[in-house]
Formats: sequence, C-alpha cells, structure tokens
Amino acid sequence: MKSLEQLLRPNIRQLKPYSCARNEFHGEATTFLDANENPYNAPYNRYPDPLQTELKNKLSGIKGVKPQQIFLGNGSDEPIDLVIRAFCEPGQDNIVAIDPTYGMYEVAAGVNGVEYRKVPLSADFEMDAEAVLAAADGHTKLIFLCTPNNPTGNSLSRPEVFKVLTRFDGIVIVDEAYNDFSQEPSFTKDLATFSNLLIFQTFSKAWGSAGIRLGMAFASKEIIEVLNKIKYPYNINQLTQEKALHILDSAGTVKTWVGILLAEREKLKQTLEALPCVRKVYPSDANFLLVRVDDADATYRHLVSEGVIVRNRNTVTLCRGCLRITIGTPQENELLVGALKNRAV
Ligand SMILES: *Cc1c(COP(=O)(O)O)cnc(C)c1O
Repeated sequence: MKSLEQLLRPNIRQLKPYSCARNEFHGEATTFLDANENPYNAPYNRYPDPLQTELKNKLSGIKGVKPQQIFLGNGSDEPIDLVIRAFCEPGQDNIVAIDPTYGMYEVAAGVNGVEYRKVPLSADFEMDAEAVLAAADGHTKLIFLCTPNNPTGNSLSRPEVFKVLTRFDGIVIVDEAYNDFSQEPSFTKDLATFSNLLIFQTFSKAWGSAGIRLGMAFASKEIIEVLNKIKYPYNINQLTQEKALHILDSAGTVKTWVGILLAEREKLKQTLEALPCVRKVYPSDANFLLVRVDDADATYRHLVSEGVIVRNRNTVTLCRGCLRITIGTPQENELLVGALKNRAV
C-alpha cells in the first residue's frame, strides 16, 4: 500500500479540522457554559458526543474491533462520500468498482467529480480480481467491493477479494451491509493483516434500524482518523446514539430475526422456482432474492397494481429481466406469491 500521505488529497492532508466545544473539553464538570446551548430542556439541549464514545465501546465488544478503529456515520452513505472526498482529487483520480453493485458508489463519485470505472462480474456474478486490478492505474485511489453484493445477492469469492487486497496499493472498501445474513465470516478479522482495508456495515438491514440512519466503518486507526477529521462535528445525533445503544442490547432478537428471514428466503426460493413465470432464482447470501421472470416490466407493474412493491432491476448490467425481492414476514411473502400467481392465470 502507498502511504496515507501519498494517497490523501493535498488539501485534506493539510487541513486543520474544526474544533468544536465538545472536542476541546470532554470530561466531568458541574457547569457547561462553553457551547452556547440552552440550559433548559435536558437532555436534548446538549450537543451529542462528537465521537460517540459509549456507542463505539459497546460495538467494540460485539464486533471485536478496537474503538479507535470504528467510524460511525449518518448511514453508510456518509463514509462512502467521506472516503471519496478524502482521497480522490476531482478530475484527476479515479475509483474502480465491480458492476453491477450498489448504486450509491457511482452517485457519490459523480457528486465529487471523480471518474468511476466499472468492471463487469461474470455471468454467475463472480469477480475476476485480475480484471479489477487491470482497470486500476496510478490515479486509482479506491476500489469498491460489496459482499454479499447488491443486487446480485451472492458473496464474492474470498480468495479473489484477498488478491485485490494484497495487490492494490490504494484503499479497498469491502461493503458488508448484508454480512449478518451471510454464511461467510466478516473481513473484520483481516484488519490486522491489511492496512488498506476499509469495511462498511450498517444498522439498516439485519439490525432493523434503517430509520435511525447509522452506518459503521472499520479500518486502521489512521484511516479512521482521516474520516473523523473531515466529518461534520456532530454527525450522529443524540436520539440515534441512544436508540443504537438500545438495539445493541437486543443481539439475541436480531439473531432470531435473521434465522426467520433465512428460513423464509429458502422457502420463497422454492415457491418461486415452481411458478411458470419464473425463469431463475439466483443463489442468495443476503435478505433478498434476485429473480429472472418472463417480462420484468410487466411483472413489476402487475405487482404494483396488487400493492406489492419490489425493485425492478431490468436495466441493470447482467440483470436483464430481473426483479430484486426483499424477504419480508411470512405473511408478506405469501402476499407476494399470491400476487405473482394472479399474474400467471
Ligand atoms: C442497504 C445498503 C447499505 C446501507 O446503507 P445505509 O446508508 O447504511 O442505510 C449499504 N451498502 C449496501 C450495498 C446496501 O445495499
């Protein structure tokens, strides 16, 4: 890996970060008159902890990652944007990513004026590490991988991911939004081996908390410091920090949800495969199924008319004719199947 100094944009390397009141003093005191807050309406009158110390300490135990190696953002969207802003000089640097994958990487690259290079997956959605590495050049700062991948649902081959991590001299982002549903272990265990590894996870999927907007990033202490340096000072609000601490006490419940959803996924896969309008249900390691049907646009419209909304992926690379279907409750999944059967007759 190149040094962080070499990889960072010069303006970010030189930036002196904003120092907020809660940064300059944190600790115990009787009287806080330093942040122009209103003394009434406790506890929401106070600015929240800018570094979310309590939440990171708790997450550290659950994830097996040191608190200094954790960044928390307003969804995964925030670290996706921050890592591009920190490392990619607009109009000069570029990003390499697999295709198809999560749409936000390309949008965030576009917002930042950074070239985004797509490397197609194989027909069975496998990554060719050689092709990914060949797409990179001296101006490639970041490679985005997503496993299990959205919208394809499969996990990328671990040896291929390791090949990219070993041979790329910039930062490799491994988005693990769906790892809780996967049979594969998290790459968090590999943080000690790869200083260029940046992992994203989220509270939005298995943790059932998309509404609180909380994303996690795990990396070396040095990469986390870069993200902390350029984030908005109070990026995670007090309500979100409280709710997250609460849901982290419910790890057992989350495990139960995941068990139900995985059983439902297998049941739904078999049911769908028996329907005449279904051509193929792709293998999934996540909480959704990618399904090829006879006429994706017409099937999508029919489902909408029955009040069932899925994601039409008909125009996405390698996904022609496909719908992406999230696994719901048993009752919701039955409604979906009922609606699809209505179309068949
Ligand atoms: C859903 C999803 C996320 C989560 O994004 P948030 O901003 O944390 O809600 C991240 N990555 C991928 C690939 C996803 O599908």
